[in-house]
Amino acid sequence: MSAQAPTAPIASVTASAYTIPTDEPEGDGTFAWDSTTIVVVQAEAAGTTGLGYTYGPSALVGLISDLLGPTVRGRDAFAVPACAEAMARALRNVGQAGAGAYAASAVDCALWDLAARLADLPLHQLLGAARDEVPVYGSGGFTTYTYERLTEQLTGWVLGEHIPRAKIKIGQDRGTDEERDIERMLIAREAIGPDAELFVDANGAYTPKQAVRVAQAAREAGFTWFEEPVSSENLTGLRFVRESIAADVAAGEYGTRLVDFERLCASGAVDCLQADVTRCGGITGWLRAAAVAAAHGVGFSGHCAPAISAAPAAAAPTLRHLEWFHDHVRLEGMLFDGTLDPEGGTISPSTERPGNGLTFRSADAEPYRVA
Ligand SMILES: [Mg+2]
Repeated sequence: MSAQAPTAPIASVTASAYTIPTDEPEGDGTFAWDSTTIVVVQAEAAGTTGLGYTYGPSALVGLISDLLGPTVRGRDAFAVPACAEAMARALRNVGQAGAGAYAASAVDCALWDLAARLADLPLHQLLGAARDEVPVYGSGGFTTYTYERLTEQLTGWVLGEHIPRAKIKIGQDRGTDEERDIERMLIAREAIGPDAELFVDANGAYTPKQAVRVAQAAREAGFTWFEEPVSSENLTGLRFVRESIAADVAAGEYGTRLVDFERLCASGAVDCLQADVTRCGGITGWLRAAAVAAAHGVGFSGHCAPAISAAPAAAAPTLRHLEWFHDHVRLEGMLFDGTLDPEGGTISPSTERPGNGLTFRSADAEPYRVA
């Protein structure tokens, strides 16, 4: 008999939540907020701790502490897909989609980080590195911003940090102020100059024909990416917009199960599939979503949470880019050491530090603790 692979039983999984005010009110086409809650998971085996997180309600702490932690405790820390399967089964009657997947994603990310730290390898190397550099795009441009703030943020990315692509929110007040949307797109183009790529995100605020009309009216802005022009649940609407405009149509940020991504791709709804590693089943689910996109010949882009997306992004051969989201960049810089520098438009996961390279500064987080 061959020897058993070395195992490290998972000893504990703990979760805590922190609510941090935004630097100013933020809003998009269909939502507005002035704080962001991050749920941090720490998984321990053989004296080593892995770190994961998701952005979601503090209620997820209970779901992780009461259900998902006990489900994976005692399992082999190197058998992350087995843990992911066990968590999905445990969530059957709770809800494998939505918030259940957010909680499982945070645990999955912590377990992959734990495995890499136990192996003393950078996480992207444990996953199987596909690239040294991960392209990013600046993302923010909230509908709540003044024109001055919008310009300042965009020029900060494009002229200050030399990131050659930036995204703004449109779809103001559920698509009821097209005029301001179009004006802001033109201001954004003016701010980033003729060469940088301009992306827009309506967060599902428009109707299909309205989205096409706005795209045509804002032609001069020269945008090349139209994210959720209509609700991502409206697959025929997305396809209609996709077939009617020159810009790429993207969606997928709310996908939590593999079938969500398969449906978006198979229905011809997207030119580029998006997936959020903190929602879609963690790194296990995210890399599978990347494979679904590749099989359909559509692009693939990482949604938000850049610090924890960097390692899987470096392991995704067909990745287009990763979202450098203002809100999360700021918050991750406040709570973690080891976040990356986007200068020049790419981030490069460390080849020196094991795991995801992040260190949780719990003392700095403590004042914001809500669970
Ligand atoms: Mg979006």
